[in-house]
Amino acid sequence: QRELNRKRAHEVCYTADGARIEVFANLGKVEDAAFALSEGAEGCGLLRTEFLYLGRSSAPTEDQQYMQYQAIADALQGRPVIIRTLDAGGDKPLTYFPIAEEENPALGVRGVRATLQQPDLLRTQLRAILRVRPYGVAKVMVPMVTSIDELRAVKAMIEEESKALGRDEPIEVGAMIEVPAAALTARQLSEEAAFFSIGTNDLTQYGLAMDRGNPALAPSIDALHPGVLRLIEQVAAGAAEKERTVAVCGGAASDVAAVPFLIGLGVTELSATPAVIADVKALIRTLNLADCRALAQAAVTAQTSKDVRRLASETGA
Ligand code: PEP
Ligand code: MG
Repeated sequence: QRELNRKRAHEVCYTADGARIEVFANLGKVEDAAFALSEGAEGCGLLRTEFLYLGRSSAPTEDQQYMQYQAIADALQGRPVIIRTLDAGGDKPLTYFPIAEEENPALGVRGVRATLQQPDLLRTQLRAILRVRPYGVAKVMVPMVTSIDELRAVKAMIEEESKALGRDEPIEVGAMIEVPAAALTARQLSEEAAFFSIGTNDLTQYGLAMDRGNPALAPSIDALHPGVLRLIEQVAAGAAEKERTVAVCGGAASDVAAVPFLIGLGVTELSATPAVIADVKALIRTLNLADCRALAQAAVTAQTSKDVRRLASETGA
């Protein structure tokens, strides 16, 4: 089946009733880009830039970063590359990044909260991203956004660095939705965010108050909990007025059982692990948007994530 699915992996993807769903790849290093392309990725929906920063004693320079970003953009041959600014802190500590000892790192100085406290480090990364050519392929994505002020602060830095670099074209800046309060205020965030990408790993962790790394909770932590699905529904509702794209780049986008629900909730872009892209695209081609919407409505009123998963298997989705 997988080989069969790969045959059509390079075609653009529509549901059976004609809704366009874009399928991108999550990447964590340069070498993955060519493979993702061969699997049918339409671009990179999440570049986890931590790979540049982890396992070294000092931060990578602007040139070092630029070369890696440009190599990925080149490998993707003009397709979009959504570059997430450094998402350190929490489960991803860095030795040269002075975050004070914290009792609750997952609720601490992480993601954009951390990089806003290290403005030089963030500006260096933003400059490297702004240099990627051709202009328009690279986009900036901000992790762990909680408040619109954070987006404004990053965008102000981007504006200054763009001017300094003599770049006159704007770059798109989107927000990751990983914090329940951000999901619930997506409408407000849409004033500053050019697009949304839901990080279901963290949105589930914070929505369910369950540590994503705790093996004792692994059987219960599920993005298909009706409460998490409600949060996703709120993101789509908040994005509608300004017609912001709603993507999912967390693990749910790589889970074929979750995909019909995401699409039914209004998600139009999935960023998945490269190895599953062909299967995700094949599944989408069998779905009807109207059925997905009905399924999603049943899911948000279901009692448990197990019930939601049962709904998925009953409908054969
Ligand atoms: C997420 O939280 O869903 C996400 C995509 O980011 P990460 O897994 O890198 O925290
Ligand atoms: Mg995350």
